[in-house]
Amino acid sequence: MLDKEFKVSIPCSRVKLAVEHVANRINSDYTGKEVIFVAILNGSFMFVAELMRKIKLTCRISFVKVASYEGDTSGGIVRELIGLKEDLNGKHVILLEDIVDTGFTLDHLMRQIRTNYSPESIAVASLLFKPQSYRKSIPVNYVGFEVPNDFVVGWGLDYNGYGRNLEDICIMC
Ligand code: 5GP
Repeated sequence: MLDKEFKVSIPCSRVKLAVEHVANRINSDYTGKEVIFVAILNGSFMFVAELMRKIKLTCRISFVKVASYEGDTSGGIVRELIGLKEDLNGKHVILLEDIVDTGFTLDHLMRQIRTNYSPESIAVASLLFKPQSYRKSIPVNYVGFEVPNDFVVGWGLDYNGYGRNLEDICIMC
């Protein structure tokens, strides 16, 4: 793809099983509760579509994006959540991510949500998690697969905009 070679790392059948396992755990942990899922686009779209088919709870889903820009005070990259219309006060919230790498994005999103709302609970589900590069302490409660620090594409994840449609999770050779 483009200038890089990729090979299959996790075939589609295994990904689907892992997503079903995540859904089962969420169904069991939130039995009798209403949940608002907040899906972080673009990369999460395939994970979310597969997961939501298996969720049996009373729930709503909100699709949001992260706008990244240079911060003027800290000098770091600020990641702002845009498009969130739901009122999260008093709600059980589950953030849906494609991949958690360093955790900086997640950290920013959590801070914003906690600044603007008082949810009853907040948890994180991510299709993929890179524990070796994780720099934060926020628990990633539901994980499809832990992966090494290789660059991955497929199942919604892209390389320069390409590869989101790949049905297997692939890594750069
Ligand atoms: P973090 O803030 O946790 O370091 O980065 C999260 C974001 O980085 C993800 O939502 C994703 O967009 C991007 N990212 C991190 N690792 C990978 C990877 O291996 N492949 C792709 N396609 N994106 C990645």
